[in-house]
Amino acid sequence: MQKNHPATPEKDIIDIVAKQHDFFRTGATRSSQSRIDNLHRLKDAIIRFSQDLNRALRQDLGKPAFEAYLSETGFTLHDLSMTIGKVKKWMRPKWVPTSLLTQPGSSRIHYAPLGVNLIIAPYNYPVNLTFSPLIAAIAAGNTAVLKTSEMTPACSAVIHQLIAETFPEEYIAHIEGEVKQTTVLLQQKFDHIFFTGSPRVGAIVMSAAAKNLTPVTLELGGKSPCIVHDDAKLDIAVKRIVNGKFLNAGQTCIAPDYVLVHKAIEEEFLAGLKQRIVSVYGEDPRQSPDFGRIINGNHWRRITAMIEARKVVVGGQSDADALYIAPTVLRDVTLDDRVMAEEIFGPVLPVSSYESLDEVYTIVERMPHHPLACYLFSESRDIQQEVLDKIQSGGACINNCVFHIANHHLPFGGVGESGMGAYHGLHGFECFSHKKGVLKSATWIDVPLTYAPYGDKIKWLKKIMK
Ligand code: NAD
Repeated sequence: MQKNHPATPEKDIIDIVAKQHDFFRTGATRSSQSRIDNLHRLKDAIIRFSQDLNRALRQDLGKPAFEAYLSETGFTLHDLSMTIGKVKKWMRPKWVPTSLLTQPGSSRIHYAPLGVNLIIAPYNYPVNLTFSPLIAAIAAGNTAVLKTSEMTPACSAVIHQLIAETFPEEYIAHIEGEVKQTTVLLQQKFDHIFFTGSPRVGAIVMSAAAKNLTPVTLELGGKSPCIVHDDAKLDIAVKRIVNGKFLNAGQTCIAPDYVLVHKAIEEEFLAGLKQRIVSVYGEDPRQSPDFGRIINGNHWRRITAMIEARKVVVGGQSDADALYIAPTVLRDVTLDDRVMAEEIFGPVLPVSSYESLDEVYTIVERMPHHPLACYLFSESRDIQQEVLDKIQSGGACINNCVFHIANHHLPFGGVGESGMGAYHGLHGFECFSHKKGVLKSATWIDVPLTYAPYGDKIKWLKKIMK
């Protein structure tokens, strides 16, 4: 079992960042071979530490082994295998046409690493959300400083040891500590900050980054709506909503935060949810090996305060000592209810009904702009297109929830208050790269069109630039 490591002293943080800038300047991170070797090194380390990571995930979040593999270690290993196979291709310059004015010559987009990156992870998927951006950073030829959450001490300890045993700190380093250490990090000069967490802290990160004009990628949260229309295949909708909502005990940034169900199928839908929760987690979900726990007492109190007893259809039970909250469904929820005032981030599913989709759009617009994800269950192509057009969101699933994250070909990120920038697969490589536009002009001829004295050359210019 890993020991918790002491917080990294301020002086060491400053030294590590300076060393990474020096190391990046040597060019050692740039070749395709070094990127691939380091991705292999990371993959071997994750395999070697997988039992420790699983134990830590169980300790910090009560995460079932299946979920730990699906959404954390397995997710990361799959990401690594795919990236190792693709990175050479991604690195190739992309040739683009050369305009008439810049002829004769050739034009290409060159993918240059950004440099020294700060990657800050939240508590809910500590392995995935630390390593997934790190994989993209390595693939794009960067160095990185990692900061995990103080709320996941067991995972942080394992990640600290894994990184220290695998990479020199001038290349990849993990900083131990709390908000104090993150604040010191944010005072340093980075070439890019990749932050995953709440919109509140995202704003702190962005304003710190602004002082150094450091670009940021913000992967934030919010209230993701889930719409169940009257033509939905109800049994499938129920199964997929239960799966997406109660994964990691609801502590998922793209969990369906609330459900809007068509009035005509409301009762059937609620009865289906009740039945499904029992069949998945049993009569007493506390005993289920497949249901996680809340991260700490503060969040347990915050989430249980949202459960209004008279609106409970399923669940409602909780135990502070065990950090347990049963999978809970609330009905007839209104916008004035506490549960609709903030991102829930726990196993509580408010359900409310609608009669027309216009009501749905009005409700979604009353929430912070715009959600990280939007889910629709409907068989109608017209309705699917209408909802995609009318509801702006970071990502979306039609007839599913959450699983758009599991396709590395899709960009993953928010829009508006749910974040900026996107990653995963090629999109992650691009997120940690600068697209350098390069024009190479011929020297075998020198066209004098744009040189002074201009004389009457404008007539030629007008022919070219119209
Ligand atoms: P958080 O914003 O509280 O913390 C995120 C990170 O910021 C942690 O490492 C924490 O140590 C650090 N931090 C906290 N306060 C800070 C401060 N004042 N200054 C500097 N750093 C600070 O988020 P959380 O509670 O760990 O995670 C939950 C939130 O993250 C939810 O809003 C969720 O939707 C979001 N989230 C988003 C994604 C995504 O991919 N978009 C994924 C997971 C979680």
